[in-house]
Amino acid sequence: MASYRFASRPPKGDAIAFEKGVLSVPNNPVIPYVEGDGTGPDIWRASVRVFDAAVRLAHGTERRVSWMKVFAGEEAHTAHGEWLPDETLEAFKEFRVSIKGPLSTPVGGGIRSLNVTLRQVLDLYACIRPVRYFEGVGNPMKEPEKLNVVIFRENTEDVYAGIEWKAGSTEAEEIAQLIRTKYKKEIREHSAIGIKPMSEFGSKRLVKMAMQFAVENSRRSLTLVHKGNIMKFTEGAFRDWGYEVAASDFAGQCCTEADLGKGGIGARADCLVVKDRIADAMFQQLLLRPDEYDVIATPNLNGDYLSDAAAAQVGGLGLAPGGNVGDGLAVFEATHGTAPKYANLDKINPGSVVLSGVMMFEYMGWKEVGQLITRGLENAIKSKRVTYDLARQMPGATEVSTSAFGDEIIKGMSA
Ligand code: NAP
Repeated sequence: MASYRFASRPPKGDAIAFEKGVLSVPNNPVIPYVEGDGTGPDIWRASVRVFDAAVRLAHGTERRVSWMKVFAGEEAHTAHGEWLPDETLEAFKEFRVSIKGPLSTPVGGGIRSLNVTLRQVLDLYACIRPVRYFEGVGNPMKEPEKLNVVIFRENTEDVYAGIEWKAGSTEAEEIAQLIRTKYKKEIREHSAIGIKPMSEFGSKRLVKMAMQFAVENSRRSLTLVHKGNIMKFTEGAFRDWGYEVAASDFAGQCCTEADLGKGGIGARADCLVVKDRIADAMFQQLLLRPDEYDVIATPNLNGDYLSDAAAAQVGGLGLAPGGNVGDGLAVFEATHGTAPKYANLDKINPGSVVLSGVMMFEYMGWKEVGQLITRGLENAIKSKRVTYDLARQMPGATEVSTSAFGDEIIKGMSA
């Protein structure tokens, strides 16, 4: 059991366990949370009331969450002189399921990005981003309801491996020289060098998690999104490894688009269809034929762009949740930043953290809680009493504060 210098373990509650690949969730789990910087505290205050209300409504006194505040970001740095105290990572490991608000990235500090560090240190290898439309939310599309996808983006390799050297540095010059002399490839003088590693292990475990989700949730298709026409041995290999996982671990549960096209033995209408798309074409596809896509598995950089673009199609980042998930370890988080200009104004939309909570409860197997929160949010939006960002896109809406929007969501759970 870890000891904590800055955080306090709640007097009641138990750690979530993970044995033989299965999460075991007690009735009173301890869940660590980071409020986040900027607007984080405003958002957290509203969100935690929504979470507690939903658990109470679904389970009465039988279940409750013991929230444990842990420190990261500006608050940790100001109070304790550390951006990401080791004990916060320890808490995430000990209690297994956590949630966090946005963290500002320290400029010029020794740490590249707190969020990237968290994902790498804890090996949270999948960044999961469900994107769906909530009726009534302003958006740029004619039929926004046609988009309903869950994006699994690889979280530890590709550009997130963070291996690069500045133009002119000794390392960049040495590597360029090696490539010129030993591998006979041209590299322009004074080039910066970045390395994009993508492994069979990393790619396959990501695709496997996405396939598992697709099968368990009876989703219709899984699309591997890659840029393999140009980067054959990284992005192209991701596609090939993806198909290999589908064939080896999900035989009988899926078929490929190619099988269906040929009308061969795999041509069953009820199977999970595995297909692939080149990344640039996929951006068009999601705009033009969004209802043909369902679960998406993709390397890091493609997923970075695709997740935000998809969120924009249904009304923006204010309602876009995220989860960083490894094996038996998960940190759910807002996908937007700290929006510092709105800090302490009780103004910002808490929807992204609230929906990240939905993902968290689903991950814990508390599906009824997630359903209640989703219903609450749908009804709050229908009532048109919403935060400024939604109000400015919804004719006839009344702008309410962060906390009042939390109240509307709670009210909406019983409507
Ligand atoms: P940002 O904080 O996401 O804010 C940009 C704009 O997005 C806001 O001014 C606001 O637009 C809108 N917005 C963001 N969150 C919203 C919400 N909950 N409700 C309604 N509107 C919302 O991006 P940034 O200004 O580029 O980044 C600020 C800091 O956040 C940086 O330090 C960055 O590194 C960090 N960041 C952290 C994370 C993370 O922790 N996951 C992610 C991204 C950025 P309007 O002004 O138009 O209303």
